Amino acid sequence: MNEIIKNLSDGNIYSVKEISTLVNKDVEYVERVLNDPSIIQTCGDGSGVIYYMDIKYDTIVDGIGFRNTIYCAKCNIGCKGCHNPQSWNITNGKPITIKTLSSLLLDNDNDITFSGGECTLQAKAFFKLALILRNKGRNIWLYSGRTFNELLKNDHSKMLLGAIDVLVDGKFEIDKRTTNLPFRGSSNQRIIDVQKSLKENCIVQYEL
Ligand code: SF4
Repeated sequence: MNEIIKNLSDGNIYSVKEISTLVNKDVEYVERVLNDPSIIQTCGDGSGVIYYMDIKYDTIVDGIGFRNTIYCAKCNIGCKGCHNPQSWNITNGKPITIKTLSSLLLDNDNDITFSGGECTLQAKAFFKLALILRNKGRNIWLYSGRTFNELLKNDHSKMLLGAIDVLVDGKFEIDKRTTNLPFRGSSNQRIIDVQKSLKENCIVQYEL
């Protein structure tokens, strides 16, 4: 069994069985995903490597409190007015192992934000990273250009949701651009309490 999962069980976060219930897949399927030996696939969703653009420490704009933010590479959503179009092409990013990345993000006591790019295109790897960070007591926010319901339709993205706290969802829509709403670029985007939403099977807004 994967060491991360053993630690997880000890840390009382998610067991393989709990994850299998969450994604409605059998335990063997979850183990296969978690132990996938492929490192770099065309989409960049390797189980051991993440492609990223940058890491910023002590940000205050990517969620509540001081946070360390990883900006991943690759996005296929194509929002008009995107703040970071150079991140669309994965070859503009740098590969880093999950182990190294988790050490960098755990360098101080800050909570963590996954931003992009579109992290769900590397969902398996971000899922593993999230488990490590959660096991160290970090609160995790995820920014995605996809909506909560769209993410639920993909097994890997759904697993990633199971390991984070808050989702800021939806495309950046330039005609709805705003500077008045905290932590969002356009008014269509929602700040969602992911664990409550999964439990109650409906979208529960996160209370700021
Ligand atoms: S989802 Fe984010 S990175 Fe992707 S196109 Fe939209 S704003 Fe840009």
